[in-house]
Amino acid sequence: MNSKWQLIAGPCSAETREQVMETAKGLVSLQPSYFRAGIWKPRTRPGEFEGSGNPALEWMKEAKATYGLKICTEVATSQHVELALNAGFDMLWIGARTTTNPFSVQEIADALRGVDLPIMVKNPINPDLKLWVGAIERLYNVGVVDVSAIHRGFSVYEIAKYRNNPNWQIPIDLKQELPQLPLLCDPSHITGDASMLLEVAQKAIDLKYDGLMLETHCNPREAWTDAKQQVSPAELAELLAKLHFRDRREIEEAELLEFRAKINAMDEAIIHLLTERMFTSGLIGKFKKEHNLAILQKARWEELLVSNVDKAVKLNLSQEFSMQLFKLIHQESIHIQSQILNDKNHE
Ligand code: PEP
Ligand code: MN
Repeated sequence: MNSKWQLIAGPCSAETREQVMETAKGLVSLQPSYFRAGIWKPRTRPGEFEGSGNPALEWMKEAKATYGLKICTEVATSQHVELALNAGFDMLWIGARTTTNPFSVQEIADALRGVDLPIMVKNPINPDLKLWVGAIERLYNVGVVDVSAIHRGFSVYEIAKYRNNPNWQIPIDLKQELPQLPLLCDPSHITGDASMLLEVAQKAIDLKYDGLMLETHCNPREAWTDAKQQVSPAELAELLAKLHFRDRREIEEAELLEFRAKINAMDEAIIHLLTERMFTSGLIGKFKKEHNLAILQKARWEELLVSNVDKAVKLNLSQEFSMQLFKLIHQESIHIQSQILNDKNHE
């Protein structure tokens, strides 16, 4: 890890004084750049735990004083900014739901005018690069110089592998537009599942991100929010130990292996499909035998060949290759049907 690589760890929400202190204690040896906890939680629907509010400011202050950790939290209003600044927070971030709203971002930016503090901006929940860039610009415009971005994925409606789709192209495009901007990844909110954190964290490292935000809780299964995606400090240590800070060459080799694995899977699918294709040819053979039909029905074959080659060429396969491939498939099909015709067992 280089010196500016950052680790942000801590619970999704500050729940109780004991939970904050216990988690902070567990994290000290990992020396995170910041200890995080949500104090005001933006909940999609009302009636869920909305954060502990002001008392939690005191617990975070205590964690900072006791363990010497820098502390950070999410702010969504100018009032949050004021309270967090008064409590001595070392970094503030704008959450994904807030980044979608330029009015809220501007309100926060105005409250930060003249404040010398690192501010991080999570991507908006919708896959809109301009909104993300816009929020960052609003901070630059009020004189905040230390701005970073956090990639936490984008909302999905359908059932998908991850809770939020990473859409890697968007943070890559963000880096293209703002090359100096540090970019962190939040695998906790991308995956929504502790068992998948490693693969996303590794991918972020391979893409040369500048750090990770990982939700960590002293008792993750009992967490009041985001229980499925949180890990204990010990699990976090294990995960970090598994991360591999690879050089260019190793990344290329890993990518090559990934391509090869894809090719292997596709070859296997082709074999299965061909097996099914030939099995069906056999069924046709039996049918022809029972109904006394000729095996080779030349007109049908020619029509099929032309139409298949045509489709293949439209999808960018070469004429020569498609022609050979379908002739070969047809030959084998005829061969199978002839065997059936001559086989006494099929009488
Ligand atoms: C969080 O970090 O706990 C959080 C609410 O994140 P996001 O804004 O990415 O949903
Ligand atoms: Mn969370």
